[in-house]
Amino acid sequence: MKQNIKHHLTDSILMGYASGGLPEAFNLMVATHVSLCDECRARLEGFEAVGGEMLDQTASNEVVMDAGSLAATMSLIAGGASDEIRMPRVRSSVLPGPLQDYVGGDLDAVQWRAVGMGVKQAILPTSKDASARLLFIPAGAAMPDHGHHGLEMTMVLQGAFQDEDDYFARGDVEVADSDTHHTPVADIHEDCICLAVTDAPLQFQGLLPKIAQRFARI
Ligand code: ZN
Ligand code: ZN
Repeated sequence: MKQNIKHHLTDSILMGYASGGLPEAFNLMVATHVSLCDECRARLEGFEAVGGEMLDQTASNEVVMDAGSLAATMSLIAGGASDEIRMPRVRSSVLPGPLQDYVGGDLDAVQWRAVGMGVKQAILPTSKDASARLLFIPAGAAMPDHGHHGLEMTMVLQGAFQDEDDYFARGDVEVADSDTHHTPVADIHEDCICLAVTDAPLQFQGLLPKIAQRFARI
């Protein structure tokens, strides 16, 4: 399916992913987005090529990049989890492959919990330094306060949402921080399903600048 994605991942997120320095929930977001987005996948491959060179250069003394996490990352992108048995993926489904691995199937495998006003969510199991959840917002409904404490990324998987400035459809990622104040509303035509990831407060602050510095030092 041809995607017409307008809102992409930032360079710092892609660099963080390439360096293996992101929390698991953020890795999941990146893997999910690049599985639909050729543009970000190409940018990511550029960063990974740079990172691979750094790894070669520093292998003898200081290990800047963890080879294991890079391998794990590559296998996430390639779609095969390294040492776990995965469910067979459903083609042309709502959930892209990397998400199906977390859920154990497509939408019908999601264990939703109602959070009020017709909104449902499903927390996905990831490491504690950041959280990932699926959100279900009925068509035409306003998004719940999804709290921009720290950095949050929200990617549309089905339907669309609109805020004061922008329109986000399948594949689009909204990147918000604690300065972002807006009221997203799901498109009237279809229930909106999103993947939302957010870091624990303070945990993530300063991590990305450090990762970016590593790359900039070359
Ligand atoms: Zn993209
Ligand atoms: Zn938001």
